[in-house]
Amino acid sequence: MSLSPAEEKFIKRAIGNNTLEKLEEKLRPERASRAGFLGQEDFLVSTLLEDRATMKKVGVSYTELAKVIYYLTNGWYMKKMKVDQGNDFVYKKQLAVTVYRTMGPQRCPFDDVGLGWSMILVEKLETYDESQKIIKERKDKLKERKDDCSDVILEHLIKTKNNIILTELSPHLIYRHKFFEGKGTPYRMEPAVLIEWFKLGKASK
Ligand SMILES: [Zn+2]
Repeated sequence: MSLSPAEEKFIKRAIGNNTLEKLEEKLRPERASRAGFLGQEDFLVSTLLEDRATMKKVGVSYTELAKVIYYLTNGWYMKKMKVDQGNDFVYKKQLAVTVYRTMGPQRCPFDDVGLGWSMILVEKLETYDESQKIIKERKDKLKERKDDCSDVILEHLIKTKNNIILTELSPHLIYRHKFFEGKGTPYRMEPAVLIEWFKLGKASK
């Protein structure tokens, strides 16, 4: 793949002091995390550049999107609501948000200060009743399977496909590394979907 000077600069900034090959390997499943930040078939450079093109097309900055996600995953709202394991809130009457504490912290795979403890499941809702139903279902599931929160979330994701998994690390990955994770991982954050759901850019009008 031949890159323009601007693209090269973008990639260099995103990956920091890492070498591309080593980092790409580390991002695959069973390395820096069990599920991986890239699927087996994903490539880091093309993932970063495709998402960059999407961001340009929709006219939303990485910072703007990361801020909203930071608000949901790390912000004052969490503290105010005393949101913890299995607790939920509804964001702007449209998204059901559930927080799960993970068994241990996930370090940023790009090897810097980034660190996250929580997983945050965001589901799009059509009605208030639907949100209550989803929240109840999830609480029941969590009671059944207290031992492994990530499995509960992954099962749920495969079943419904109408949700996005974020983590405490998500805003850092987006802001600092311009990275939404690879299409081959369940933790992929589809930028166009995030922007539509959070009503940013053109979707806000
Ligand atoms: Zn990082």
